Amino acid sequence: MANDKKMVEDITSMEEDFAKWYTDIVKKAELIEYTSVKGCMVIRPYGYAIWENIQRILDGMFKETGHENVCMPMFIPESLLQKEKDHVEGFAPEVAWVTHGGSEKLEEKLCVRPTSETLFCEHYANIIHSHRDLPKLYNQWVSVVRWEKTTRPFLRSREFLWQEGHTIHATAEEAIAETEKMLNVYADFCEKYLAIPVVKGKKTESDKFAGAVSTYAIEALMHDGKALQAGTSHYFGDGFAKAFGIQYQSKENKLEYPHQTSWGMTTRLIGAIIMTHGDNNGLVLPPAVAPIQAVIIPVAQHKPGVLEKAEEVMAQLKAAGIRVKLDDSNNSAGWKYAEYEMKGVPVRIELGPRDIENNQCVIVTRHNREKTFVSLDNLAETINAKLTEVNEGIYQKALENRENKTYSCKTIDEINAALAEKGDGFIKAMWCGDENCEDKVKELTGAGSRCMPLEQEEISDTCVCCGKKAQHLVYWGKAY
Ligand code: ZN
Repeated sequence: MANDKKMVEDITSMEEDFAKWYTDIVKKAELIEYTSVKGCMVIRPYGYAIWENIQRILDGMFKETGHENVCMPMFIPESLLQKEKDHVEGFAPEVAWVTHGGSEKLEEKLCVRPTSETLFCEHYANIIHSHRDLPKLYNQWVSVVRWEKTTRPFLRSREFLWQEGHTIHATAEEAIAETEKMLNVYADFCEKYLAIPVVKGKKTESDKFAGAVSTYAIEALMHDGKALQAGTSHYFGDGFAKAFGIQYQSKENKLEYPHQTSWGMTTRLIGAIIMTHGDNNGLVLPPAVAPIQAVIIPVAQHKPGVLEKAEEVMAQLKAAGIRVKLDDSNNSAGWKYAEYEMKGVPVRIELGPRDIENNQCVIVTRHNREKTFVSLDNLAETINAKLTEVNEGIYQKALENRENKTYSCKTIDEINAALAEKGDGFIKAMWCGDENCEDKVKELTGAGSRCMPLEQEEISDTCVCCGKKAQHLVYWGKAY
């Protein structure tokens, strides 16, 4: 028992220090390890398996919506990066450069891709000539590098894994529809598979992607009341096409510029999962992406028949497509309970001699520690039903947290009072559209604009800052 206690005591409680709680979990649940390269981490097998599940589901959703995967080089020549003015200005401060190949100085330095719009544009200029070549719906799964000053595992690292979709279309309407479609794919993915409720919205001018006409995002609220941008989808208009000389011959035999989009989701999602669902016993993983969905813990495993039965149960669950693990190590049952709670395994199955005699087992769901006795008959069906229940349970809990921490405010004083009394959260407040007001709200309250939700409401008819006529409802908040 000393061992079980130690595991739990080793994590800082989230109420005491949320940031420390977070870094404790990423280490204790064996998601990452730090390296000698500052701001770069090893994603360990358990963490990588979560990413693989995210990747598999998302990739399926991309293919279903007609996208194809490609792979671009990881280097971008300086001259190529500089072709689109806003884009290079936005990314230059955090670009890493390659200046030498072996001991020879390169004629032109190469940047390590922070994102690949420029490479896709160069490629599109080569392969697109006619309206028959459009659209191209491409995606790639790669890593990118952004030389961040302050870093945190999964949330902000110098190299991170992501997917970047890049599409090119004949008309603005088609490209805009694609931007919106992918925002919806992202929102569905977060809500259905990660059990994370999100707000779909549009970024303000000052907050949009470098080179974009408009940027859409999904915003989630973490347990501590801070916002996290979980995915973005950008509409580029024909700005990149003009900068890179991409043109096509229309049906009417006219030379036209095509319209583009890009959209991305990253390993940041793992940070979102931790901070949305985790608790003081460790991770709580959504069943869809949990590397282990159910763990079988044999009780009194030295007794005859226990391990045999446990193996039989494991085989049954595996055959039903459940990701299951049997832990028959020599660690105590108590140690195992704490270990798999730390790792966020959604369902624990306890199986001892008495249970076997009664043709039953004990099921404990991780998120609420509810314990039920169930029959060993049709166990796979029972476990699948439990996994659905877990997914719904953690989604509801996250939604409640967001609702409890969303405050409607009409004045700056109301914002400050809400944040002081109730703690960090989403502030819903009206805005006139003036960037000065946006800056001032952040300066006076600490809450920046997160997005203008697609579902607009009218909380009041005047701007929360200047009192002039309001144009948009904005979600404000402190963010990761
Ligand atoms: Zn204003």
